[in-house]
Amino acid sequence: MSSADPVAAVGGAPAGGSDGGAADDDGGTAPDDDGGAANDDEGTSADGTWLELSVAADVEAVEAVSEILGRVASGGTSVEPAFILSDEGLGAFVDASRPATVRAYLPARDRTAARTAIHDTRIALGHLQAFGIRPIGDLDVRVVHEADWAEAWKAHFPVLRVGRRLVIRPTWRRHARRPDDVVLALDPGMAFGTGLHPTTRLCLAALEVVADRAAPALGRVLDVGTGSGILAIAAGLLGADAIVGVDPDPIAVDAARANIGRNGLARRTRIRAGSVPTGEPPFDIVLANLIASLLVTLAPDLSAELAPDGTLIASGIFIDREGDVRAAFEAAGLTVLDRLAEGEWVALVATRNGTRL
Ligand code: SAM
Repeated sequence: MSSADPVAAVGGAPAGGSDGGAADDDGGTAPDDDGGAANDDEGTSADGTWLELSVAADVEAVEAVSEILGRVASGGTSVEPAFILSDEGLGAFVDASRPATVRAYLPARDRTAARTAIHDTRIALGHLQAFGIRPIGDLDVRVVHEADWAEAWKAHFPVLRVGRRLVIRPTWRRHARRPDDVVLALDPGMAFGTGLHPTTRLCLAALEVVADRAAPALGRVLDVGTGSGILAIAAGLLGADAIVGVDPDPIAVDAARANIGRNGLARRTRIRAGSVPTGEPPFDIVLANLIASLLVTLAPDLSAELAPDGTLIASGIFIDREGDVRAAFEAAGLTVLDRLAEGEWVALVATRNGTRL
C-alpha cells in the first residue's frame, strides 16, 4: 500500500486499535538512541519483544515520516495525534496544529537487522529534514513487550470530541454527558475507526453538518468500508432511520456489529461482509471513508447507491489524489459541493442533483 493510504499510514500495529491506538511499555528499558537495544541483552532476544521507533512530526510531515518508518516496520506503524484536553481533563479534541507522534514496530530479536533498520531510518529522516519540510523530531527507540501490548494502548485513547456535539467514548472510559452531546460508545479492537485518524474525523464533521440540515431524520444511510462501525453509529445516533454498513474485512464486520449493539442501534442497522453494489433500495446518505484509488474505482457504484437527492460523503483522499477523485465523481454524475481538509487529507461532499439538502 502507498503512504497515501490511510490504512497503511496508520494500521497494523501488533495489537490494539489500528488507527491511532499507540502502544505503551510499562517495563521495557529504552535502548540508547543509536540502536543500543541491538547491542545488549535487555530481554530483547525473546520472541514477542519489539522495538518501538517514534518520531514527533508536524501534520504536514506525518505521511512522509510514516512512509520512512514503515519501510522497516514489520509490526506496522501508528499515528497518535496531539490532544487538547477538554471536560476538565477527562476528554480531548485532536489538535492538528501540534506535532503528532508516528510510531513503528520491528522485532527486537534479530539485533543486527534491528541495528541496520534504526541506522537506515535515522539517515532517511535526516534526508527528509534536509529537504526543509516542516520540522520533525529526533528518532526515539525503546523496547516494548507484546505481553503488555493488548491493553496498554487503551491508555492513549481518550474520550474524544469531534465537530460540535459528537463524543467518542471508548467503552473503558466514563464521560459526563452535556445536554447536546451525541455519545458513541466504541471498542475498535483491531478494526479501523477510532476517531483518531483525520479521515474519520472529516467524515464525522461532514455528517454532522448534513444531519443538522436534514434534521430531524437522516433517512437511509449506507456506510461503505464501515471498519469499527464508527460512522454508521454516528449516523444512527444523529437520526438515521435505517443504516447498512458493508466491509469486506471479517474483523471489521465483527467489530462493527458489536459496536452497533453497544449503542442500541441493532434494530435499525445491518452490517454485512461485502461492498458496493449492495442491491439495496437507494440511500439518502452514502458514507465512504476509503482510499482515493478505491473511490475512483467505485465512483459509479457509489453514485448508483444514492437516491436522486442523496448526498455522498467521501473521505480518505490524500491531497495529491483529490483531482482524480473529483474527475471520477464528475464522470459518475456527481457534483462536488463541499470540501473539508485536515493536514494532507481531504473529504468531499457530493450530490447527484447538484443541490444541498
Ligand atoms: N469507516 C471507518 C472510519 O471512517 O474510520 C473505517 C474506514 S477505513 C479507512 C476503510 C475500510 O474500508 C476498512 O475497514 C476496509 O476493510 C474497508 N474496505 C477496503 N476495501 C473495501 C471495498 N472494496 N469496499 C468496501 N470497503 C472496503
